[in-house]
Amino acid sequence: MSENISLPKQGLGKAGVLSKLDDALAKEPDVLRGNMSCYAMKGSEEMVDVVSQAYQKYFFLNGVARRFFPGLQDLEASLTGMAANILGGGAEGIVANVTSGGTESIFCALHAAREWAKKTKPHIKEPEVVAPYSIHATFSKGCQYLGLKLVRVPVRDDWRADAQAIEKAITPNTIMVAGSAPSWPYGVIDNMDQLAVVSKKHDLWLHVDACVGGYLSPFVSMLGIDLPKWDFSVDGVHSISADLHKYGYAAKGISTVAWRSEELQQYHFVSPTDWPCSPYITQAFTGSRPASAVAAAWAALNYLGEDGYIAYADRAMKAKARLIEGLRKIEGIEPIDTDLLIVVYGAKGIRVEQIVGGLSGMGWTSGGVMDPPLAHLVLDPLSEDVVDLYLEDLRSVVDSIRAGKSSAEGTLSYAD
Ligand SMILES: *Cc1c(COP(=O)(O)O)cnc(C)c1O
Repeated sequence: MSENISLPKQGLGKAGVLSKLDDALAKEPDVLRGNMSCYAMKGSEEMVDVVSQAYQKYFFLNGVARRFFPGLQDLEASLTGMAANILGGGAEGIVANVTSGGTESIFCALHAAREWAKKTKPHIKEPEVVAPYSIHATFSKGCQYLGLKLVRVPVRDDWRADAQAIEKAITPNTIMVAGSAPSWPYGVIDNMDQLAVVSKKHDLWLHVDACVGGYLSPFVSMLGIDLPKWDFSVDGVHSISADLHKYGYAAKGISTVAWRSEELQQYHFVSPTDWPCSPYITQAFTGSRPASAVAAAWAALNYLGEDGYIAYADRAMKAKARLIEGLRKIEGIEPIDTDLLIVVYGAKGIRVEQIVGGLSGMGWTSGGVMDPPLAHLVLDPLSEDVVDLYLEDLRSVVDSIRAGKSSAEGTLSYAD
């Protein structure tokens, strides 16, 4: 298909198009082995069916024109209400907006903080954001787009944010402190209570990037597992990004950004009036957007309900415990103590690049971390079906590397 770069003179028709798509799908990685990687994060077959039917129902409606679609308005209000509740930690007055993904949620939070600082700290001309080294790459992107300077501060030995070092990195130009719940590279929740003390002392905006943990951590807590606090129950948190298309199990293309109050949310909205049409009011940065993503996320939350999310969290956390136990039994493999469902491990005496290379050769799609070299896995409830297979393959890869029979190096990077 890739050779076909010109528009076909005559359309291929339904059968032609669908069969070409099947050819493309056949090249994608093994579905089963994918259940241990960042592209899965999905629920049962029935759940996937419900989410995709919900997506179909709202197919073609454009979320930018919500005002024509009262049904969609209701669904979105219900969605942002549930988001505010789940991320609120019992706090009152929390509000949220829907975005297209974690990148947009973080972009919006950075933007709102910048606008807030323009008003509350007008002397600052070159605003800075201070965050742990482990904060997601999208902060670097967002800061670049918004003219902010991002200062990354080394993490502690336990891979969490170092609040003291972060305080030292604050300058008269700092507007925001940010941390993760958990961080993508190391899978641990930053000590937001300590970051809150620092940010309050210096009157700074505090953002929590809970893109990967926002719709998981609350349900893991309900299982009785003790986790560091990071939601709006932490006094000082201004905004939280949390992706519905990760552990919300929604279709890709939807996230939420939540605000401590309507007052802070006002810094988020940009509604231009200087064009020939009416004021251009949008919920976030994107204009046209799939209403289907809203319908699918609404369906996911309502299909599972609290009990369903708790049950999924339980299954996935048990799979993780089994995986960690197995990893520890393999000589040289050293998993990091992560909080939720990201599993990372280093290796003694073998290059992680070779391990990841060997596993890729067997159809696993795990990425990695480059500093330090770590293999990186993202579990979901379906991972329980593949933990044993993964451990078996890993053992054989490690054995063959030790025996000098395998040396293919894999890449530890995720993106393109
Ligand atoms: C996934 C993720 C992001 C980026 O979100 P996208 O939905 O990929 O744009 C940001 N931060 C963390 C912690 C993430 O896990």
